[in-house]
Amino acid sequence: MSLVMIIEDEEPLAMLLSYNLEKEGYEVATVANGLNAVSEVERLMPSVILLDWMLPEVSGIEICKMIRSKADIKNIPIIMLTAKGQEEDKIRGLGAGADDYVTKPFSVPELMARVKTNMRRAPLFEEKDKIIVFDDITMDLSERKVFRNGHQLHLSPTEFRLLKMLIKEPGKVFSREILLKSVWGENIFVESRTVDVHIRRLRKSLNQYGPDYIRTVRANGYSIDKNSSSDTTEEKEDEL
Ligand code: CA
Repeated sequence: MSLVMIIEDEEPLAMLLSYNLEKEGYEVATVANGLNAVSEVERLMPSVILLDWMLPEVSGIEICKMIRSKADIKNIPIIMLTAKGQEEDKIRGLGAGADDYVTKPFSVPELMARVKTNMRRAPLFEEKDKIIVFDDITMDLSERKVFRNGHQLHLSPTEFRLLKMLIKEPGKVFSREILLKSVWGENIFVESRTVDVHIRRLRKSLNQYGPDYIRTVRANGYSIDKNSSSDTTEEKEDEL
């Protein structure tokens, strides 16, 4: 079961959120002040964090920055909750590393939808007996098999390793250099363009049975992401 952590000092709001999240089938942990928030995140490793902006002792922004600076928890999606609606504050929140932003008063169904969306991006993917699941893609690491929507894909060992790397941290952008080092190894000389070639093949295999989830980030690299279609089209044309 996925755990959602609520870091919120207003008890009625924390209770309302907790009630609704549990109704949606999530496990919930609530932290009422900023002081022990980060250590609780490290202890419980939630899939998504709802973080209030205005907290006693340590502000939501500070907590957000601290979470983003710690390797073990930095990829956990954070949704900021705040009464402030100004554009400037929104930018500050996102600048501090928040993934999403909800302004109080918000509608419960809207917040539940945001939690669900951010949950999909969570690094804590389903891994049981070495099975990795990302939406409709399933990787069986021990059998070295990949399925999409029930169809088996036939990937080369390199494409398999590339997919594994991307799928383990959805939404994270991997540079060509990092992919080369991790997938091909440090001592092998391969041009970074080679990564593009293999990504193209991987994409072709995956897209036979579902939408394009590989996102090309111009000049930066690649990630796997459910909301990828808009900015890949352009790049794909470039690659032809
Ligand atoms: Ca507050």
